[in-house]
Amino acid sequence: MPARHQRWVLGAVVGLGLAALGGCASTEASATDRAPLPSSPTAVAQAAPPAEREAPPAFDLTAHSTTDPRSIWVVVNKRLPITPADYRPDPMAIVEGYQVSPAAAPALERMLAAARADGTPMRITSAFRSHGYQEGVHEATVARLGRPAAERISARPGHSEHQTGLAVDLGSLSEPGCNFDACFAATREGRWLAQHAVEHGFVIRYTEATTDVTGYQPEPWHLRYVGRPLAAELARTGATLEETFGLPGGDYPR
Ligand SMILES: [Zn+2]
Repeated sequence: MPARHQRWVLGAVVGLGLAALGGCASTEASATDRAPLPSSPTAVAQAAPPAEREAPPAFDLTAHSTTDPRSIWVVVNKRLPITPADYRPDPMAIVEGYQVSPAAAPALERMLAAARADGTPMRITSAFRSHGYQEGVHEATVARLGRPAAERISARPGHSEHQTGLAVDLGSLSEPGCNFDACFAATREGRWLAQHAVEHGFVIRYTEATTDVTGYQPEPWHLRYVGRPLAAELARTGATLEETFGLPGGDYPR
């Protein structure tokens, strides 16, 4: 709820409370019966122009495609594979030696520069991964951990956000032992990202609260570019991409 709307509701509630305290005999008194003193909060609320009381315009959820892998709003998960399966951004941008989508590259550069300026430099540990490369990553993870554990942290080829070029994994320089580990969240770099990524149009895609929806364990190092308007909207609502767009998530279909 926007602050001004909150203030109006608070004013109304306080106003009703004052009316009761003032010995107002009837609880059925209509708004016009309740003529409050001009200095009461209710008077302030009544004086507010009508526009102040209207809800803000709804966020436009149709501004970008959620299925086109070139779209900054594309949703890729265990239910929604990338189409076409062999997609790769063309042209490709390079940031600090890593391949990323040109749509995300300027924002990524700005975010890394801002982190550096705040005394929290960090590095990219993974960015675009092709279908073939992800196949190798996934097979190696399954061989190392077994399929059930591997599936909670590693996407099957065609289901990885990294293939869009819009996702990056970031690493700590102060505590590199926490890279790709849950303890990354508590590092200086992890805490900086949790606080500032949204300002640059990125979201931490996999969190503790959303494992059922995303299908993945928390990954405080995995940042997904969605652009500033949607990043701000997700920060405001606390919802995932899946919940925001009403799209399926969770585990692979059986
Ligand atoms: Zn990642």
